Amino acid sequence: MKILTGKSILDQVAYGPLRVYHRQPFQLDFLSHLSSGDEVLRFQTAQRRAVLQLADLYDQAALVVGPQAASIFAIHAMLLEDTSFVDSILSIIQTQYTTAEYAVQVAGTSYSAAFAAMEDPYMQARSADVKDISRRVVNILAGTDAGAVQGDEPAILVADDLTPSETVQLDKSKLLGFITRGGSTNSHTAILARTMGIPALIGVDFDESWDGQLAILDGYNHCVYVDPAPELLSAMEAKRRADLEQEALLQGLKKKPNVTLDGTEIQVYANIGGVGDVGLVLQNDAQGIGLFRSEFLYLDGDDYPTEEEQFAVYKRVVETMAGKKVVIRTLDIGADKQAGYFGLDHEENPALGYRAIRICLTRRDVFKTQLRAILRASAFGTVSIMFPMIISVREVRDAKEILEECRAELKAQGVPMGEVEIGVMIETPASVMIADELAQEVQFFSLGTNDLTQYTLAIDRQNPKLDAFYNPHHPAILRMIRQTIEAGHRHGCWVGICGELGADPVLTETFLRMGIDELSVSPAAILPLRKRIRELDLSRPAASEPLDGA
Ligand code: PEP
Ligand code: MG
Repeated sequence: MKILTGKSILDQVAYGPLRVYHRQPFQLDFLSHLSSGDEVLRFQTAQRRAVLQLADLYDQAALVVGPQAASIFAIHAMLLEDTSFVDSILSIIQTQYTTAEYAVQVAGTSYSAAFAAMEDPYMQARSADVKDISRRVVNILAGTDAGAVQGDEPAILVADDLTPSETVQLDKSKLLGFITRGGSTNSHTAILARTMGIPALIGVDFDESWDGQLAILDGYNHCVYVDPAPELLSAMEAKRRADLEQEALLQGLKKKPNVTLDGTEIQVYANIGGVGDVGLVLQNDAQGIGLFRSEFLYLDGDDYPTEEEQFAVYKRVVETMAGKKVVIRTLDIGADKQAGYFGLDHEENPALGYRAIRICLTRRDVFKTQLRAILRASAFGTVSIMFPMIISVREVRDAKEILEECRAELKAQGVPMGEVEIGVMIETPASVMIADELAQEVQFFSLGTNDLTQYTLAIDRQNPKLDAFYNPHHPAILRMIRQTIEAGHRHGCWVGICGELGADPVLTETFLRMGIDELSVSPAAILPLRKRIRELDLSRPAASEPLDGA
C-alpha cells in the first residue's frame, strides 16, 4: 500500500480503479503558408466559435452547478476577448508570419505564466483559465480534440491538471473522484468540483504507472491510498456508503417544508457574506436570506464602496432570490472586522468599542450611502433591514430617522422603492432586557448568539484560550433566547436566530418549543437542519430541559 498526501477540496471518500489521463500534445506548425491577413481571419473565426462554445458550456454548467459557479465560462469568454491578449496574438501572427494556432499557444503560455507568477493566490489560479481558453481556440483551429478524458468504467481520474471546461463536462456516472498534480484550492476547477460534489485531491505527486490500480481517495484526511490494505478498504467502503446515504437523504429533502411531525412550521434561511454565496443558498433550498453580512463589501476594497457599487450588489442578491426575503444587516464593522480606510483608532477592548451601529450613527454619510443603496434595491424584491449591536431604544429611533430621511430623498428624486421591514439584532444582554420596548419599534428580532454569548459570559469570542469556557448552551443564553422570543411575540414581531447556535441540532427542539419563527444558518447547514426539524414531534414531552442546569 502506498500513501500520498495532497489538498482535499471536499470531505468525502471515493474508492475504485485509477485512470491516468494524458492530454494529447499539440503538433503545431510554426510558419504559415497563408498571408498574415488570412491567419488573422482564421483566428477571429475560431475566437467567435470559442465564445459560442463557452455560451453553451455556461448553459450546461448553470443547470449542473448553478449560475454562480457557471460564471467561470462567462469569465473565459471575457478573457478571450481581452484586448491585450488578442493584440499579442495578432502581433505574433503579423510580425512572425506564424499560424494562428501557434500564435495562440505562445500568447497563452506567456499569459498563463504571468498569472502563475503573481503573489495573489486568486490571480495565480487564473493561470489555468488562460491555458483552458488557449487550448480551446487551438483545438478549433487545428481541428484536434483533447482525447477522451474518461473511460467506459467508473474510475478515479488522475491528471496533471483538469481545466474547468473538462471538469464541468465530466460524466458523473463514470467519475468516482479525481486527483491532480497541479491546481489550487482556489481554482475554478476546484470550485466547480466542490459545487458538483466530486471528491478531489490536488497537489498529489502521482506516478503514471498507477493506471488501473485500486485506490482510496480520502478527502477527510487529505490522502490517497494506492493498493490499500483490505481492512482499510472495508472501513472506507462503509464510510462511503454512509456519506452517500446521508447525501441522498438530504437531497431528497429539497422542496420539502420545514415542518415537525406535529405540524409546527418554521422558516430556515441562509447566512451569506456576499453575492458569491447566493448560488449555494438556492442549491440548498433556503427559503430566504436571514443575514447578509454587508460589511464584507467594505472589507473587500480599499475605499468606501459607493452607493452605486452597493446598489449593484444588493440588487443582484435580491433579484436572484426572486421575491424570497433578504435580510440585509447594516454595516457591522469594528472589533475583529477592520478596514484601514475607516481610520479607526487602536482600542484596548475593540469588542466593546467603536463598532457597528455606533459607527453608523456617528458617520451619517457612510450610513446614508448604505441605506440609500438598500432602499433602491428594495424595488427589486423583498428586503428587510436589520441594525446590529443595539443596546437602546434611542439607537433604533435614530437609525430609523436616518432611514426615513433617505427614503424621503429618494422619493423626491422619483426613485422606486419597495416595502422594507425593519429589525434589530439581539446580541447584547441590554437588548434582551429591553426587548419589550425594542419590539414596539420594529417588525422582527434576530438573535446574534455569537456576540450574545461573548457579552453574556464575558468571554472574548476571538480568544482561542477561552474556547473551553465559551458555552453557548449555558442556561443564561438559553433563557435570554426564550425571553427575547416571548417579548417579540407579545408585540407582534417575528423572532429568529442568525448566530451559529441556530444550526446546532441539539437545540433545535428547544428553540421550536420556545416558539422560534426562523433559523438562519450557513447554506451547508440548511438541509441537515430541515432533516432535524422534520424528525421532531413537539406533541410529545421534551426529552430534556437544557434551560435547567447552570
Ligand atoms: C452574531 O453575533 O451572532 C452574529 C450573527 O453576527 P456576527 O457573527 O457577524 O457578529
Ligand atoms: Mg454579532
